[in-house]
Amino acid sequence: MYICKTFTYVEVFFFSVNKFRMDLINDRYVVAGQDVLSICEEFGTPLYLYDGDKIVSQYNHLMEAFKPLEIKIKYACKALTNLNVLRLLKEHGSGLDTVSIQEVELGLIAGFKPEDILYTPNCVSFDEIKRAVDKGVVINIDNISILEQFGHEYGDSVPCCIRLNPHIMAGGNLHISTGHIDSKFGISIYQIPLLLRVMQTYNIKVVGLHMHTGSDILDAEVFLRGADLLFDAASNFKDLEFMDFGSGFKVAYREGDIATDIDGIGKKIVDRFQTFCTEYGKDLELWFEPGKYIVSESGYLLVKTNVVKQTVSTVFAGVDSGQNHLIRPMMYDAYHQITNISNPTGTRRIYSVVGYICETDTLGYDRSLSEVREGDILAIHNAGAYGFSMATNYNSRFRPAEVMVYNNKAKLIRKKEGMEDLVRNQVMADWSE
Ligand SMILES: *Cc1c(COP(=O)(O)O)cnc(C)c1O
Repeated sequence: MYICKTFTYVEVFFFSVNKFRMDLINDRYVVAGQDVLSICEEFGTPLYLYDGDKIVSQYNHLMEAFKPLEIKIKYACKALTNLNVLRLLKEHGSGLDTVSIQEVELGLIAGFKPEDILYTPNCVSFDEIKRAVDKGVVINIDNISILEQFGHEYGDSVPCCIRLNPHIMAGGNLHISTGHIDSKFGISIYQIPLLLRVMQTYNIKVVGLHMHTGSDILDAEVFLRGADLLFDAASNFKDLEFMDFGSGFKVAYREGDIATDIDGIGKKIVDRFQTFCTEYGKDLELWFEPGKYIVSESGYLLVKTNVVKQTVSTVFAGVDSGQNHLIRPMMYDAYHQITNISNPTGTRRIYSVVGYICETDTLGYDRSLSEVREGDILAIHNAGAYGFSMATNYNSRFRPAEVMVYNNKAKLIRKKEGMEDLVRNQVMADWSE
């Protein structure tokens, strides 16, 4: 006997979300006009699929929300670093926010100009910062010790940006909140006097102020409080060219989720920013660094059901993927919506969708899905951000292929790994020597 719950209001709602995220046309799910099951047949599963049009429309929506200001978007590429995604955003005018020298190099390979790349590392060696300076990217410094070394090395010859920590608590999850008082990120606003002394000692030229308070901004007022603290601090810095308000734009992962009201925040920020610029006496640039907002909804992890397993309490749908490919449900307790795209009109039943990893790896607990049969393809939504980029080879599984739909074509943008990738850097040590 299947456990079958009654069809509730909530489930009707989920269904409408399914349709919104992926169009259902003649009982076939499509992404940007392309049939998803055909894509699975062509490229196999598990598979990461991205909707390039959605990435562009998210980028454009953010740009629009701050009109008449021409904000600068520095896409936080740690969310999804595929070169094709980087190139797509570059073509639409985006810059890049990077957190490692390797991301800097990926950005350069994708064709970004160094001056369009911001490098915002935390706890990296000064050697790595020097390498980034050599590449010509904008350096964002987030601690006094590095700032002193930076000043000693470069004086006023290399301008930099300062990451301040306004200690605004944003976001519902301590793992991703970066603004609280004992966070390792940024230079505390309470240390500004010390910061100014170091700047003076080495004649350091600060051209930007930055904050990134956490990963989920639900409340425009919290965001604006942080912004106000940065505006207040700005009077201490006479060479500013830009203010960078980081990110934290939240998108809905399920119906009823509060997403960041981009248009509302846009209007309020524009007003205050223009007033601030008048007071400061110069029109500064306004920068943002969205990651999740740009790519989360564009992405789907497509998996095949290997086993439908009925236990005394639960029906499991066991799929050919798991926390090795999408760790967010296990690591952050994140909710990712799941749709059975092989059986759009089937009877709804309750399943726990689990992976094939030898550890509890639940992708979705107690989900209402249209009846899942072995072989059915399930789509896991909101898999564009922190999906592939956090994937590992745990259990010696290959990381999946990536495909992007753009211009009405589905194209492979990363091959699935093979055995050669698992053994590539392993060395057979010879103990007889
Ligand atoms: C991760 C990160 C971002 C992007 O955060 P999202 O929640 O994905 O938008 C922006 N700026 C910095 C410095 C980051 O570390």
